Amino acid sequence: MNAPMPNASALDFIPAVGDMVFTPLQCELLTTAHRLGREKFAPRAAQWDREASFPFANYDDLRNAGFLKLCVPTAHGGLGADYATYMMVAAEIGRFCGATALTWNMHICSTMWTGVLADGIPMTDGQRTEHLARRELHFRRVVNDGAIYAQPFSEGSAAAAGRAPFGTTAKKVEGGWRVNGRKIFASLSGAADYYGILCTEDKGDDHPDARDTLYLSVPATSAGFSISGEWDPLGMRGTVSRNLAFKDVFVSDAEQLMPRGIYFKGAQTWPAMFFTLAPTYLGLATAAYDFTVKYLRGEVEGEPPVKRRQYPTKQIAVAQLRIQLEGMKSLFARAIAEARPNPSKDEKLRLYAAHYSVMEGANDIARLAIRTCGGQSMMKHLPLERLYRDSRCGALMLPWTAELILDRMGRETLYEAGERDE
Ligand SMILES: Cc1cc2nc3c(=O)[nH]c(=O)nc-3n(C[C@H](O)[C@H](O)[C@H](O)COP(=O)(O)OP(=O)(O)OC[C@H]3O[C@@H](n4cnc5c(N)ncnc54)[C@H](O)[C@@H]3O)c2cc1C
Repeated sequence: MNAPMPNASALDFIPAVGDMVFTPLQCELLTTAHRLGREKFAPRAAQWDREASFPFANYDDLRNAGFLKLCVPTAHGGLGADYATYMMVAAEIGRFCGATALTWNMHICSTMWTGVLADGIPMTDGQRTEHLARRELHFRRVVNDGAIYAQPFSEGSAAAAGRAPFGTTAKKVEGGWRVNGRKIFASLSGAADYYGILCTEDKGDDHPDARDTLYLSVPATSAGFSISGEWDPLGMRGTVSRNLAFKDVFVSDAEQLMPRGIYFKGAQTWPAMFFTLAPTYLGLATAAYDFTVKYLRGEVEGEPPVKRRQYPTKQIAVAQLRIQLEGMKSLFARAIAEARPNPSKDEKLRLYAAHYSVMEGANDIARLAIRTCGGQSMMKHLPLERLYRDSRCGALMLPWTAELILDRMGRETLYEAGERDE
């Protein structure tokens, strides 16, 4: 990572992640994200939401800015952003378009998990050599062709929660794998060039095992691959998260995104890999807060300049919003600074707390923002009602739904590894 700047004054705005010490690379990326978001993504956000259509124009801008290769290591032609840098930039994008930030996360994870995160996962020398050779192909596609990767894991079973093996299977055949199964909620469906799926290696017996999880990329042009289903949800409508089916889809060995068995180890080694869904929602919460302040001051463009700030109830509500937002940002900033392979128990519990606070807090903030601004603020030509709907989705996302975080936190606080009651 580059040397830190002495302070954040190089930025002429306060990023969604908060005011802190940034490296020169972080300053540069945050500035670009803020400019793209304000000038391009925010004005377009209502269109994707209304149509439930994918933000292709935003992806052209992300590609032109080099943001599709943000986490590809510099040695492979990428921008070389580390985990914390990605998390800061993603929050800034989420501030202007939730659907763009959330789908961009799916793409980025395909490069970050195989890149900087994989570097911290234990592998044998053979596995490491295999991985370094294979990931080159994927990095090249992103860097040279501007390819987009999706990340469809969910199947509507206990697998995405990490409680059962994936029902989608891959059987080893000559030169590659034969994939069968289905996925639901595949963000970027129809927009991605490659679908990075999790599936279980079919070893020909009746004992599927989560340790045999494979992480494979399926090219969108593969024979036997199809997309189906309606997409008309409450929020995050621009993610276009439809169903995928794989019927005897052949993918070559080169499409393996991680060596056999490594994804399972990675999920245990690097819990912060699941926290990457959170910055989108920190961005949404920041947007709801920003809007409320502007609205109460009578400064929203295109609206009558009616001030509502003089009422003590509004002032108190704004203070409450700020207190909750500051709490979320502090936990978020600490969690991204601490993220590493094999975190301590204390760090892991804090990571869960950060995730829960952001995912539940974003919707709390949007709810209070609407109540405080009042009826005119929830009209469709203003962003607040979309922020309210989009922010509802964070706590539903597996494997760390708000419910499952509470479940994990409670259990892992009260039980040490391997401890049981008689
Ligand atoms: C906008 C949006 C975009 C998405 N994009 C993607 C994507 O790109 N890729 C992807 O893989 N997924 C994606 N998802 C799916 C998401 O991660 C979840 O898989 C999905 O929301 C789960 O919905 P479900 O109704 O199938 O949940 P269910 O599995 O029916 O679970 C319902 C609730 O029960 C709880 N629960 C689930 N399993 C257990 C368990 N074993 N023990 C105790 N409690 C449990 C959880 O709190 C969960 O919220 C997306 C979801 C949304 C809303």
